[in-house]
Amino acid sequence: MQGNDGPVWRTVHIGLDLFMEVDSPVLAPLDGVVHSFRNNNTPLDYGPTIILQHALEEQGLIFFTLYGHLSENSLDDLYEGKPIAQGTPFAKIGNSRVNGGWPPHLHFQIITDLLNRTGDFPGVARPDERDVWLSLCPDPNLVLGIPTERFPARGRNVEQLRKRRAEHMGPSLSISYRKPLEIVRGWMQYLYDENGRAYLDAVNNVSHVGHCHPRVVRAGQEQMAILNTNTRYLHDNLVEYAEQLCATLPEPLRVCFFVCSGSEANELALRLARTHTRQKDIIVVDSAYHGNTTSLVEISPYKFDGPGGTGAPPYTHKVSMPDVYRGEYKSTNPKASEHYACHVEDVIRQIQERQDNVAAFICESLLSCGGQIVLPDNYLQEAYRHVRNANGVCIADEVQVGFGRVGTHFWGFETQGVVPDIVTMGKPIGNGHPLAAVVTTPEIAASFNNGMEYFNTFGGNPVSCAIGLAVLSVIAEEQLQANAHHVGTHLMNDLRQLMGKHTLIGDVRGLGLFLGVELVLDRVTLEPAPIQAFYIANRMRERGILLSTDGPFHNVLKIKPPLVFTEANADFLIKTLDEILDEDCCK
Ligand code: PMP
Repeated sequence: MQGNDGPVWRTVHIGLDLFMEVDSPVLAPLDGVVHSFRNNNTPLDYGPTIILQHALEEQGLIFFTLYGHLSENSLDDLYEGKPIAQGTPFAKIGNSRVNGGWPPHLHFQIITDLLNRTGDFPGVARPDERDVWLSLCPDPNLVLGIPTERFPARGRNVEQLRKRRAEHMGPSLSISYRKPLEIVRGWMQYLYDENGRAYLDAVNNVSHVGHCHPRVVRAGQEQMAILNTNTRYLHDNLVEYAEQLCATLPEPLRVCFFVCSGSEANELALRLARTHTRQKDIIVVDSAYHGNTTSLVEISPYKFDGPGGTGAPPYTHKVSMPDVYRGEYKSTNPKASEHYACHVEDVIRQIQERQDNVAAFICESLLSCGGQIVLPDNYLQEAYRHVRNANGVCIADEVQVGFGRVGTHFWGFETQGVVPDIVTMGKPIGNGHPLAAVVTTPEIAASFNNGMEYFNTFGGNPVSCAIGLAVLSVIAEEQLQANAHHVGTHLMNDLRQLMGKHTLIGDVRGLGLFLGVELVLDRVTLEPAPIQAFYIANRMRERGILLSTDGPFHNVLKIKPPLVFTEANADFLIKTLDEILDEDCCK
């Protein structure tokens, strides 16, 4: 493939670019004769190009040097076989009108075998063909002799990086994909590896408005150059941001606490709830993950019931996931929500029988680690009713799904028609900057004001708030919530079509751009297909699309891209998934 269409681009440069002013002379580095010349005048090509032939008499070897992006008059008076002595100015640097549209520069390349070409030879290669082209084109600096310290340091390759990382990073941290990726650049919904290969990021809900969104980057850079300090000083950014964030939420959610991670947000939410209710017991949904601290692992079944976990402490109470596909009550049961919510009521009764009471019920507005599960209608209404009857506090964990991702609403809990007492936010809030927040009611905030000050060194600093403000404004101005709705609906419809064709797909679900594809070996027994899910995620990565797997059986493909994801991106994902589902491993 010559061009840059398709999933793999020619991003490996096999010559050396020397930037010079237009009309600078090009001197022959060695004795030689003109082999061939041509004006390769299509856009982004070389423009006027000369190839010289050189001979190493003693060794009986012939090789070539190529000069691209020359001026048009460099080709005047040339003929094949014309001798060019070392040091002779034989061409000039072209301008961008004639040189293929580039900033003025010389492309210089050594070629040992021209493969019968004349006046042209590939100067860039696909990463997977790098070794072949480099075997034909030795380092151009062998001839030029530019001091090596003038070149940027060479990056380490993926294997070396992995080894060095293993020496200094805790081994409890895994790396995505069977063949790890080295990612060096992000732009909107794309990530780029060290070879410049683009990957469509279909899984990163942190870079919510797009990787490295220029307005978010600029907001952070500008504020960082002026002031960054803690929240014990008055500052416009803090107040402005708190006001704007609260404006996205229903009454009476009007009091903000700014922190630095989703875990810090949930940690504080627990403290607020426990201080307000003077109770310790927490009700959580099975398979949930709420954060990495000691207290949060204690309320995260995903961790305490998983490898290395030690089970639930006595003050943590699990209720079943309201999963109408695989759970006890299916979508065919009109009372599924009420039945699942009754588990909450039952647990409250058990707590009360021990003379305690519930402090909080914490639940994501869509279950992420649980397997991208959409709560059945009314589930939160019913569950909240039971919790509030017992004077408990209802916490909505919006760390994964907030900020317009669900498409129809800005907050996931709004799809359930409830107003939580505490909302926790993270991941997308700062588009990758370590910002997170807790928003609660004045009443709960007042209970927490018991003399023990809450201070957070970095939370809510002017840089974080500038970034948070930029994220809110980009979501609104680029209408990303509407895009999530539109593209998410398109993607969901096409995924459902795939279901008709591939029996491995047992369920397709989600809201907006938060989707899950559950894979099963048998649509009746619902036997999970984790090997196939792992295979598909890795094959998609090889084909240039990043997604991951989750759910208690690791058999759910997770799709939660930046909200700038387009319909064309969705079509590319569907086409590739369709092809991979046809491979033997998925049969
Ligand atoms: N809550 C949920 C639902 C999450 O998914 C996560 C992170 N995966 C957290 C809380 C914790 O956030 P953080 O990693 O920013 O501490």
